[in-house]
Amino acid sequence: MNVFIVHAHPEPQSFNAALTNRARQTLESAGHFVRVSDLYAMRFDPVSDRRNFTTVKDADYFKQQVEEKHAAKVGGFAPDIAVEMEKLNWCDALILQFPLWWFSMPAILKGWVDRVFALGYAYGGRRWYDDGVFAGKRAMVSVTLAGDEIIYGKTGLNGDIHDILFTINHGILRFTGFDVLPPFIAWAVARVDDRARRGYLDAYEQRLLTLAETDPIEFRSLDEYDESFRLKDPSTA
Ligand SMILES: Cc1cc2nc3c(=O)[nH]c(=O)nc-3n(C[C@H](O)[C@H](O)[C@H](O)COP(=O)(O)OP(=O)(O)OC[C@H]3O[C@@H](n4cnc5c(N)ncnc54)[C@H](O)[C@@H]3O)c2cc1C
Repeated sequence: MNVFIVHAHPEPQSFNAALTNRARQTLESAGHFVRVSDLYAMRFDPVSDRRNFTTVKDADYFKQQVEEKHAAKVGGFAPDIAVEMEKLNWCDALILQFPLWWFSMPAILKGWVDRVFALGYAYGGRRWYDDGVFAGKRAMVSVTLAGDEIIYGKTGLNGDIHDILFTINHGILRFTGFDVLPPFIAWAVARVDDRARRGYLDAYEQRLLTLAETDPIEFRSLDEYDESFRLKDPSTA
C-alpha cells in the first residue's frame, strides 16, 4: 500500500512524532511505501486566499470555490497545494496525525484541508460520500489527547470523542469518499507513564499492520436519502 501521513505537531520529540516515526518504520518494514507531510517542518501555509492559485477567474471578487473550480480545470493550483494533491492521488491510505486542540485539529492541519481539498479536485458535481473522489482509498485519524476515556466517553463531561471526531471523519474524509477506519486514540498521553505510552505505540503498530483489513466505520449510504437528502425512512434516524 501507499500510505500518506499528514503530521501536524510542532515538536519533533513529541509523542505525536513518536507515533509518526513508529508508523513509518512499521509500514516500511511490512513492505508498504510511506510519504509524510510534516506540516510544521514544511512551514505549510494554512491561510487560504489568492495565493492558493496561479490562475485568476474573477479578479474583482475573491470566491475561493469559484477559483478552485477554475484552477482544477486549467491546472492553476499553487505548487505547495499541487504537490499535496499529487500525494493524495498517490496514496491508498491517508493518516491524519495530530493532537486534539480545542476539540478539533490544529489550525495548520485544518488549513491544509481547506486549501488542498479543493472544489473540482476533491469534491463537486455530486462526487461525494459513496461516489466521492477518493472512493476506494482508506483514511484514519490518529489523535492524542490530554483527556482520558472517561471524560471523552459517552457519559463524560467533554462528550463522546467519536461525536467530536464526526466533523473530520464524516464531514471531511467520508464526504470526499474515503473508507474511514475507526480512529486510533492515545488517551491522556502526558499523564500516563512511559510504559503506558510504549503500550500506545505497540497498539498503534497493530492498527497499522491491519490497515488494509480493518472494517471501516459504518456510515449511511447515499441511497438511504431522498432527492432532498433527507432519510427516506426517518424511523431509522
Ligand atoms: C491549543 C491547545 C488546545 C488543546 N485542546 C485540547 C482538547 O480540546 N482536548 C484535550 O484532551 N487536550 C487538548 N490539548 C492537549 C493536547 O491534546 C495534548 O497536549 C497532546 O495531545 C499531547 O500530545 P503531544 O504529542 O503534544 O505529547 P507530548 O507532550 O509531546 O508528549 C507526552 C509525553 O510523551 C513522552 N514521549 C515522547 N516520545 C515518547 C516515546 N517514544 N515513548 C514514550 N514516551 C514518549 C514525552 O516525553 C512526554 O513526556 C490542547 C493543547 C493545546 C496546545
